[in-house]
Amino acid sequence: MEETRVVQGAWELSTFHFNIEARGINLMLEGFKEKKLKGIRCHQCGMVYLPGPFYCRKCHVKIDEPVEISDHGTVRTYTVQYADIRGNPMPEPRVSAMVQFDGCDSWVMGVVKCDPKDIHVGMRVKVKWKDQPIGNMQDMEAFVPE
Ligand SMILES: [Zn+2]
Repeated sequence: MEETRVVQGAWELSTFHFNIEARGINLMLEGFKEKKLKGIRCHQCGMVYLPGPFYCRKCHVKIDEPVEISDHGTVRTYTVQYADIRGNPMPEPRVSAMVQFDGCDSWVMGVVKCDPKDIHVGMRVKVKWKDQPIGNMQDMEAFVPE
């Protein structure tokens, strides 16, 4: 059973940064040029990651098996933003979600183009690709309902 929880209150948020192994991100961005998602599969346990790391987070072995992943997936969690980082109201609410693509074990975050009242855990979405992708993060414009 899926459950949605609403957490009331003020959250102190700040910026952060994280590192992604270059090989996995380069493979993913190369795939974007063809409107494809390319990740890495672990040869030992079968876990599929996007973008692909150089080692399996579960088995701790080096992995390098490229695999094509569907650009359709399922919303696993989401948030609706009504104010910017300074607390100013947004012109319109922005829906962001963590999406698990079909056949992939990791999740990817992105904006969902939908009415905020329609978003829910378990919602089926697909990638809206830029018409002329060039191999950067903006090629994946947003998620849209299937
Ligand atoms: Zn593994």
